[in-house]
Amino acid sequence: MASGEGRRHHHNLVPLAALISREMRSEKMEKPSVRYGYAAQSRKGEDYFLTKTECQRVQGNPSSTFSVFAIFDGHNGNAAAIFTREHLLNHVLGAIPRELGREEWLQALPRALVAGFVKTDKEFQSRGETSGTTVTFVIVDGWTVTVASVGDSRCILDTQGGAVATLTVDHRLEENVEERERVTASGGEVGRLSIVGGAEIGPLRCWPGGLCLSRSIGDMDVGEFIVPIPYVKQVKLSNAGGRLIIASDGIWDALSSEMAAKSCHGLPAELAARQVVKEALRTRGLKDDTTCIVVDIIPPDTSVHPSPPPKKQNKLRALLFRKKSRDSANKLSKKLSAVGIVEELFEEGSAMLAERLGNDESTGQSTSGIFICAICQVDLAPSEGISVHAGSIFSTSSKPWQGPFLCSDCRNKKDAMEGKRPSGVKVA
Ligand SMILES: [Zn+2]
Repeated sequence: MASGEGRRHHHNLVPLAALISREMRSEKMEKPSVRYGYAAQSRKGEDYFLTKTECQRVQGNPSSTFSVFAIFDGHNGNAAAIFTREHLLNHVLGAIPRELGREEWLQALPRALVAGFVKTDKEFQSRGETSGTTVTFVIVDGWTVTVASVGDSRCILDTQGGAVATLTVDHRLEENVEERERVTASGGEVGRLSIVGGAEIGPLRCWPGGLCLSRSIGDMDVGEFIVPIPYVKQVKLSNAGGRLIIASDGIWDALSSEMAAKSCHGLPAELAARQVVKEALRTRGLKDDTTCIVVDIIPPDTSVHPSPPPKKQNKLRALLFRKKSRDSANKLSKKLSAVGIVEELFEEGSAMLAERLGNDESTGQSTSGIFICAICQVDLAPSEGISVHAGSIFSTSSKPWQGPFLCSDCRNKKDAMEGKRPSGVKVA
């Protein structure tokens, strides 16, 4: 609230002290502590990372602290990685409605991440530079971990039970059938490089551009069906805590998730990150930029040991998540069933903005009564806003006059990403 910055407060102004005591009660003072370490070996100088542990949902309220950890693996230069590292967090936070309590804030995050990723991509592309970057962006708030990713920098979760889960999907055309189909349906061509004599080499790539990823930020010179819309997963850890390993593909091309987790078992985060990098280099040599962040989410009273892990779970990689009933049905998560080590709060990977920005009647209007663009957050005149659902085949249950709304620029971007206008054709 102290961060009002000239905003107009019309209603529901809660005194800071009351808010703090409410937050502390709801947290029951049982917030885990977060320790982290990182390590990197550079070959091309295109990996960047971000670690920020003192962010606050409510400025001036230490109990609203959350942490951000991210890896940006650039390609065709480092400009997109640097730009995204600089701006993405602000764009995400700028898309969260003001004055939310902790639970509402966490629920608003998945959508704000989508808006922040797309806004960052738009801004970077408007600079006319051609580089691109993967992003794996992790927000740790208490026991809740929210991960948003485009590209192939992975985040895994190693729980106290010894089971290892992947919190990202790989947006590599070679490995992701669904994404190959989406890109092809939007007008892209997927194929390998062919050399003289017609032989095909290397991984599957998308043409024009020749990128082997199906999602990224930046990448002006590839088709616009290479989208910046992130896969998002939100989970709540049990009070036994857990370890996150976030790393660029230099690690994952050398180590499986299980190998990476195992290689650093028992080490504190700082040493663990170094060990994972060392292990990857030992296996494969320094073929690529190799960056690793290890984040430990540690129960407040570590003298009380968590109940011993049920050993049998080691083999049940898929059975890590317990679904929360409020979550809507989702194809993938049905496979991830019930052991109860980690509670899955949210998972969505669709590349369609209409599906990702939702159908919320309460949003789309700022406190001043003006409509705002759900992506870039600019004010819109009532005649300007175009519903994200307008003209969409996914809008059967929704109304075209219902929010959220997009400015015409963001609407053009949306159409291009869905292959509704030829890629690269800019609408004035
Ligand atoms: Zn906009």
